[in-house]
Amino acid sequence: MTKRLCAPVAPGGTIGILGGGQLGRMLALAAARLGLKVHIYCDEDDAPAFEVASARTLASYNDDAALARFADLCDAVTFEFENIPAVTASFVAGRAPLNPCVRSLVLTQDRLEEKKFIASLGVKTSAFLEVSSVEDVRAAFARLGGPAVLKTRRHGYDGKGQAKVSSADEVVCAFEDSQRAPSVLEAFVDFSFEASIIAVRSTDGAFAAYDPPENAHENHILRRSTVPARLSAAQVEDAKSIARRIAEALGYVGVLTVELFVTRDGALLVNEIAPRVHNSGHWTIEACMVSQFEQHIRAIAGWPLGSTERHSDAVMENILGGEAADWERLSQTGALHLYGKKEMRPGRKMGHLTRLLPRTEA
Ligand code: AMP
Repeated sequence: MTKRLCAPVAPGGTIGILGGGQLGRMLALAAARLGLKVHIYCDEDDAPAFEVASARTLASYNDDAALARFADLCDAVTFEFENIPAVTASFVAGRAPLNPCVRSLVLTQDRLEEKKFIASLGVKTSAFLEVSSVEDVRAAFARLGGPAVLKTRRHGYDGKGQAKVSSADEVVCAFEDSQRAPSVLEAFVDFSFEASIIAVRSTDGAFAAYDPPENAHENHILRRSTVPARLSAAQVEDAKSIARRIAEALGYVGVLTVELFVTRDGALLVNEIAPRVHNSGHWTIEACMVSQFEQHIRAIAGWPLGSTERHSDAVMENILGGEAADWERLSQTGALHLYGKKEMRPGRKMGHLTRLLPRTEA
């Protein structure tokens, strides 16, 4: 029988997390601070989150018996990455309170549905068209013009499954390279910079958002997040209201991230949404009263939200691949977080470093 979240999960209760990456690890650490236990469910035995959890299940996301045992042991469940199979999430949601809701997960697994949903709320995105055949691809490129970005509808993150194209032949080649995967062709946005808004909504509909960081990417991977961003107070309010509209339309519970392009004329376009805590919000651990990780745990456990107030300016840098070998020097330059990953593959997120500065106004 489905357990309902009628009352907050009290200290001593158990939060289940589907997924065992660094986001799960930092969620588990935040939950522990609130006196909650964490049970991690992951299909990889060297998952960073296993090391800091009080219980673990190492099993496939298709293993109904293991999922049932896990769900029955948890008072509330969440997920830490959006490629959890929707059937897995639905199965768990049938046995334990799962947030964010399955609809949010399903929506963000498909770039086309996600963009249509955002546009249906009257929120701006870059121009986009659905493409499923070579004819569609040519027609879409003719309508949008170049440059454009071809993105597979599913399984894309950190630039995977996407290609920037400047001619009709290039876009057809990119589509062939993706094995003609159902895709979206998007107008390339010549943005001034990228930003994100990390927001949280509670079970009783309370909403809060952090000051948006400005995000710099290298090779499609987040390199650095800086707060405050070069945004006016009106743009910050606009960004928060975009996140609020999305969260309310989804009946969302938990932390929600909205990635934004800030155009040269100051408009905010939504690139994508992530139904989870986000790499661009890691600085909240040191620079805010309550971090994004604690907010997410509070929200999904039915607790009141904490303050999103920022007491310092901050710069968060990712530590990628072999850069982690320099941990001793890095540890003397800021707040160092290492995720316990053994293999330093190029571009792999091994940790991050946050530096604080006295607060200035946005
Ligand atoms: P995504 O996987 O959609 O988050 O894209 C990863 C990164 O690629 C973004 O953070 C941008 O830096 C870049 N990018 C994606 N889509 C576009 C676009 N339509 N125009 C310009 N840059 C883009």
